[in-house]
Amino acid sequence: MSICRLRGLEKQLIKAHIIPRKLYEPIREASIGEPPSDQVPRMYVVGTNQKAKQFQSGIYDPSILCRECDGDLIGVWDNYGQTFLINPSFSENYLVDNLGKRAVYRIEEFDYKQLKLFFMSILWRAAITSDLFFAQIRLSSWEEKLRKMILAQDPGSENDFSVVLFKYEGDLSEIMHNPTKQRQDKVNYYRFRFPKYGF
Ligand SMILES: [Zn+2]
Repeated sequence: MSICRLRGLEKQLIKAHIIPRKLYEPIREASIGEPPSDQVPRMYVVGTNQKAKQFQSGIYDPSILCRECDGDLIGVWDNYGQTFLINPSFSENYLVDNLGKRAVYRIEEFDYKQLKLFFMSILWRAAITSDLFFAQIRLSSWEEKLRKMILAQDPGSENDFSVVLFKYEGDLSEIMHNPTKQRQDKVNYYRFRFPKYGF
C-alpha cells in the first residue's frame, strides 16, 4: 500500500500511464516490429541525443495513482481525448493558406470539460512522476492548484491552463519527444509532442 497522489489516501497503486497509451501506439508497434527499419517513427529525449528506453513497455508510473483515480476519473477523460484525436471528426473541416495548403482545422463541436481535463491531467501526471522523461516539468505551486481542479472535475476557464493543439501531417509527423519547458512573450508553457499532435 502507498499513498495515491490525487486523493492522498493509502491505496493499492497501479501502473498509471502518464501519456495515454493509444497516443503513441504507432511508435510502440513500429519499434517492436521486425525487421527494424530506418522508416519507423522514434521517440527521443530532447537534449540528450538518446532514444527513450521506455517505448516498448509504455510510459507509466507504478507509484502515483490508485485504480479508482486512474480508471474511474482520469480514464474517462483519457478515453474521450484519445478517441477525439485518433478518429478526428474535424479532418475535413479546415481553412487553407494562400498556397492552398491546410493551415487551420476548425473544430465545431467538442466536450470542453472532458477535453480540457484530458490535457490538464496529462500535465499533472507528467508533473508528479519522477520518471526522467518528464524531468523538465516542474509546476511548483501550480501543481497543487491543478490537482484540486482535477479532483473537483473543474476544467476552469480558457485562461486557466490554456491549451493550444497542433496537428502534424506528412513524413515527420509520427515522432515523439519528452515534454519541454518553453517561454515566449513572458508566458511559461510546456510543449508535449506525440505522433500527429502536439499541445
Ligand atoms: Zn486514488
